Parts: sequence; C-alpha cells; structure tokens
Amino acid sequence: MSFEKFELHAKVFAGVQELGYIRPTPIQLESIPPIMEGRDVMGIAQTGTGKTAAFVLPILQRLMQGSRGHVRALIIAPTRELSEQTHKAIGQLGRRTELRSASIYGGVSIQGQIKKLRDKVDIITACPGRLLDHINRGTVDLSKIEVLVLDEADHMFDMGFLPDIRRIVKHLPAKRQTLLFSATMPDDIRVLANDLLQNPVNIKIGFTAPVESVTHRFYPVQMESKTALLKDILDKTETESVLVFTRTKSRAKSLARQLDSSGYKVTSLHGNLTQPKRQQALDGFRDGRYEIMVATDIAARGIDVTRISHVINYDMPSTADAYTHRIGRTGRASKTGDAFTFVTGQDVVLAHSLKKVLGEKLQYHSVDGLTITMPLTATPAPARRNNNSNGRKPDKSRRPFTLSAKTNRKPVQRSFTSENRQSWAH
Ligand code: AMP
Repeated sequence: MSFEKFELHAKVFAGVQELGYIRPTPIQLESIPPIMEGRDVMGIAQTGTGKTAAFVLPILQRLMQGSRGHVRALIIAPTRELSEQTHKAIGQLGRRTELRSASIYGGVSIQGQIKKLRDKVDIITACPGRLLDHINRGTVDLSKIEVLVLDEADHMFDMGFLPDIRRIVKHLPAKRQTLLFSATMPDDIRVLANDLLQNPVNIKIGFTAPVESVTHRFYPVQMESKTALLKDILDKTETESVLVFTRTKSRAKSLARQLDSSGYKVTSLHGNLTQPKRQQALDGFRDGRYEIMVATDIAARGIDVTRISHVINYDMPSTADAYTHRIGRTGRASKTGDAFTFVTGQDVVLAHSLKKVLGEKLQYHSVDGLTITMPLTATPAPARRNNNSNGRKPDKSRRPFTLSAKTNRKPVQRSFTSENRQSWAH
C-alpha cells in the first residue's frame, strides 16, 4: 500500500514525497486511519518504526482545516532531543503547509521560547518540566488544544514525569484527541492511558522490521579489556556511524576522551553537557564529522541518525527494555544495523534474559585474545603487536590481556566481513 491511500491534503502529501517515503511502515498503516478519524490511539511501538510520522501526518492533516496561530496540537516527549527531533519532522513533513511549530524544553533560555510562543505557533513539542514553567508563567495558552500526543510514555514514567503530565493535562480541554505511544506498557502507563484516553484503538507493533533488520552479537569480555575490544572492533569492522553506550556520564566522557586521543573521530552526548554542546555533538554526528558517538541512555533517547550502522553496548543496559531502546537507534526505517554488546560476569543474568527474547537472532562472538567464555577468569599475558594498517594512530592503550577461554575452539578470525565472520550460537 502507498501513502496515496490515506488521501492526505496535497500540501501534507508533498512532505511525504519530499522525504522520499514510498510505503507506510506498519505503525503508520495501522495508526494513520484511526487517528485521521479522530479516534484516541494507544500504540505500543519502539522508536525507529516510523511512529513520528504516524502521528505527525494526521495532525498536519487536521490542522490544515480551521484557524491558525493558536496552539492546537501538543506533543509531549521525555527528552530535549526527542522534542527537537519531532519538531524537525514537523518542519520537514509540513514544509508546504505553513503550519508553525515550536520546541520547548529546559536547559536553554526561556525568553527565546516566550518570544516564539508569542509569534503564534500551531503545534508545540515539549518536555514536561519546561512546559509547566510556561504554564505557570502564563506564557503558553493550551486552551485550544485539539490533539495531545504522549510520546515514549514509558520513558517519561522512568524519568518521573507522570505527575507533571497529569498537571499539564488539567490545562487542556477535556474534549480532545489523545494519542499515547510507548515501547512497553508498565502498569503505571496503563493506568495513565485508562485515565486519559477514551475508547482507544490499541495498536501493537512488536519486534518488527527495524528490529528484524538488526543483528545482535554478544562479546563476553573482562571489564578491563572493554576498551581494547572496542578499538579492535572499530578497526576491523566496516561501519558508517557508530553509537556507543556507556552506563554513566563520566564513563561516556572518559571513553570518548580515550578514543579521541587514539585518533578516532569521536564525540560524546551525556547529561552534563549544555544544550548548545549537545546540539553541536548531535549535528556533528549526524553530518558525519564524527564517526563515533559515546552516549548515555537518557541522552541518546530519540536520536534519529539514519546512518547509524552499529550500536555498541560498551556497558550492558540495565534492563531488556533499555536494550530495545538502544538498538532502536540502528536499523532505522528500512536500513540494516548491527548491535554489539559487551558482556562481563556481572551481566550474565540480563544476557540470559535477552537471549530468551532474541533467540536464534543472537550470536556470541569472540575476538582472539580479548574475549572469553563464561565463567570469567583472566590471566595476564604478554602484549600483542598491533598490526593496524588503516592509517589510524597506533593503539597504545591496548591492554596486555589474554583471557583464559575455557574452550578448545580454534582462534577466531579477526575481521568481520561476511565471508569470514565466525560466530556460534550459545
Ligand atoms: P521514527 O520511528 O519516527 O523515529 O522514524 C525512524 C526513521 O524512519 C526516521 O528517520 C524517519 O524519517 C524514517 N521513516 C519514517 N517513516 C518512513 C517511511 N514510511 N519510509 C521510509 N522511512 C521512514
């Protein structure tokens, strides 16, 4: 099926064409028609499935009718990045519509936002905290809202935003359309959905196309060999853009610094950065100036960089849901991607539950001298020579570790082209 079937307004359809979308994704197929009918929708879908356009297109369609210059649609998102990204998607899809949107989030001056809101906008994408600020100052009028979208609701719950959302909703007209999107459905979100949505259409897009298009690989490794393993993978793997996840801000910062001093084009994204610095990092990663971005979960929420070929979990995520979100950064839309995860002895429990979810799609890999089999036992060994021939600075920090792999497998090939990839199912 093509986008013509939705019978979008010509100016909205023009945006679809300009972005080069040919076929609607499953979430778009299922949710655009009921949203266009004015129904409430509860969508269980990960990022990367095309869910932004799934709600933005019907919103643009609706706003083509009726008066302009007051806020008629509100999209609430957990992070500034996601808010900015949705604002950008509205700008792209709605380029011909002349509808105006503003992105509202904390960490930047409120004055610029007040001015933008005074200049009259039709759509707001916002993070809850700063939106409440505007409500309290009387600098935003939400009394004409026709559509409310709660995006990545489970993440808003994780971040403690649900009370803020309930406060915000009190300022909206009771008669409105409400759409809620979430990758998972914890009880608190279900309760919120019951309170806010009326007779919703339930749509569930599970492990679908984008996830299907991602390969999952685990590398059992000692904690202290992670950086050496990462560099080995970066040197030996054909990549476009690589997103590396660490557990903490300080680990993101220090890993980025180490990679930078080894000659990699790297930036980092974490909560300690100012908004301009975050934007600079994201822009540089998006336009290819930086090949690698080291990020924490919160910062990387909603990052939409289509060229991400590899997500590397340098630190294991804390839950299976977090894993899903991280790998949703690659294999976006119809592209393919690889998700590599470093597994230490402390991660075995989660590794086992992920293995259950991923089944045969999961492979375990070893790299000669750097990875191990569980249980983890390490013995120091002489440093190996580094035979890099890719023009990058030699890696002086490679750690002299060979790990006592309890296996009689032959040494594993060290290059990851499709012909000589070696993997085995655990
Ligand atoms: P999202 O899940 O909304 O973050 O979208 C993920 C990526 O898919 C974004 O880069 C979108 O521009 C892209 N996308 C969304 N819908 C389509 C489509 N129908 N065809 C191709 N790409 C799409």
